[in-house]
Amino acid sequence: MADLISLSPGDTLVLATHNAGKLAEMTDLLAPYDITVRGAAEAGLPEPEETGDTFEKNSALKALAAAKATGQIALSDDSGLCVTALDGAPGVYTADWAEKADGSGRDFAMAMQKVETALQEAGAREPSDRKAQFVCLLCLAAPDGRTEFFPGMVDGTLVWPPRGENGFGYDPVFQPAGHDRTFGEMDKAEKKGTVRQGDAGRADLGLSHRARALHAFIAAKLPDI
Ligand code: IMP
Repeated sequence: MADLISLSPGDTLVLATHNAGKLAEMTDLLAPYDITVRGAAEAGLPEPEETGDTFEKNSALKALAAAKATGQIALSDDSGLCVTALDGAPGVYTADWAEKADGSGRDFAMAMQKVETALQEAGAREPSDRKAQFVCLLCLAAPDGRTEFFPGMVDGTLVWPPRGENGFGYDPVFQPAGHDRTFGEMDKAEKKGTVRQGDAGRADLGLSHRARALHAFIAAKLPDI
């Protein structure tokens, strides 16, 4: 078996994402640790096409592209919204549901409306029929091709109409289980949940799918940093 990827104090970690919302959350979660983070755009990397049909394939594709191009260890995030009544859609195609027809970029108000229309067509009106899960799969990759994965998930209910201006993507329609506000109504500390330096071994920390996955990564790779 190939050796595990290790990070030492002061190392640089390339965050293999061009999504400003993800980059801000990942940078914030990694801020307490003695590693230098660099976003993919800052490193001058092109955005790879996501050709995979699983979170694992797309996460690996992004992390490996960044690690090979920079010669540094890279961490990617592939994530999505899986709606139970829609058999897990949009899932790995969550970003694609926001693509504008004229190819001029992404429109998440339109994407949230598409999900709502699909739920209405499925007859999903009661909260119990509107369950969803945000999924995040982080991939840590080394320039020599090694990869390791760290998953995180959060269960919730989809609300309509969207509520709140915070966050990004589908945050205004996602109300995490046990909370009465959407991610769009939470500030970044609330969406992150309780994650502190020194808590690396605790599995019960973090609220968002990304915070939970980052926490698993921190527990495995940065416990002493
Ligand atoms: P991908 O990982 O690049 O395929 O994109 C995943 C898509 O899922 C993003 O474009 C976001 O719209 C959505 N997404 C992932 N995480 C979140 C989140 O924390 N809040 C809202 N939307 C998210």
